[in-house]
Amino acid sequence: MKKIFIIAITFTVIFFALVIKNAHSKINSSSTTFSYFSMDQISKKNSNAEIEVPILVYHDVAPWPIQAFNLTESLTIKPGDFEKQMKYLYDHGFTPITLQELKAIWDGVKEPPKKPIVLTFDDGDKGVFKYAFPILKKYKFHFVIFLITKYTNYHTNFYMNKDEILEMVRSNLVEVGSHTRDHVNLKKVDYKKAYFEICSSKSDIKKYVGLNATSFCYPFGGYSETAIKALKYCGFTLATTENYGFASDKQNPFLLKRIRIDGRDSLGIFIEKISKF
Ligand SMILES: [Zn+2]
Repeated sequence: MKKIFIIAITFTVIFFALVIKNAHSKINSSSTTFSYFSMDQISKKNSNAEIEVPILVYHDVAPWPIQAFNLTESLTIKPGDFEKQMKYLYDHGFTPITLQELKAIWDGVKEPPKKPIVLTFDDGDKGVFKYAFPILKKYKFHFVIFLITKYTNYHTNFYMNKDEILEMVRSNLVEVGSHTRDHVNLKKVDYKKAYFEICSSKSDIKKYVGLNATSFCYPFGGYSETAIKALKYCGFTLATTENYGFASDKQNPFLLKRIRIDGRDSLGIFIEKISKF
């Protein structure tokens, strides 16, 4: 009788030990589901915590001319370097999203994907279509282009035209945003010019590529109270600056910070710039 009692006790102890171990491993596996937004951040999100996301600034992607000036080198990422940066994002589980997707996350109507990041391209340079787009398409990365819309209806060697933009739109990877019609510094113009530049660029995008642009980027990083009023009036919901840092839902949505990627950055510097947590 005593023997049976000892066996019963032993089985009970083993049974409870297994139950506890199983529960523990379940907790561990669920806490590794979100590696960028930790469980901590997700629960903080529900309790109105800050959600920070890097918005990267690119301009052109193209080979450097033989005698490049510093400014050209700064604004132009060589295709090989761009490929390395995108491969790094892909290999490390980042999810490039558009600004409207970011807004949906911040509004709480979309679940944050794993390691969200936003890739923005200012000015609509030709190299974005020629060199960056094939790489972005390969990785199925979403991205945002900010157009100077007076160039959209022309065929030049420097800026993307509407046929090239439409080809990107058909991939369903791109969000088309505005960078004004004439690339003016909105800090230095009167309210009439500010409204014209902002509202006409929106109607240009509608006319040339059939899209309702809702994201905006200030040329030269120049913004003003008038510009923000005009953006709201013309139906924009987000605007990005040249102010350095991660964007956050705690910032004014019309003054979002970004992180500029320089053509002379090594892969190490690129990694450093996008690392925060
Ligand atoms: Zn610009």
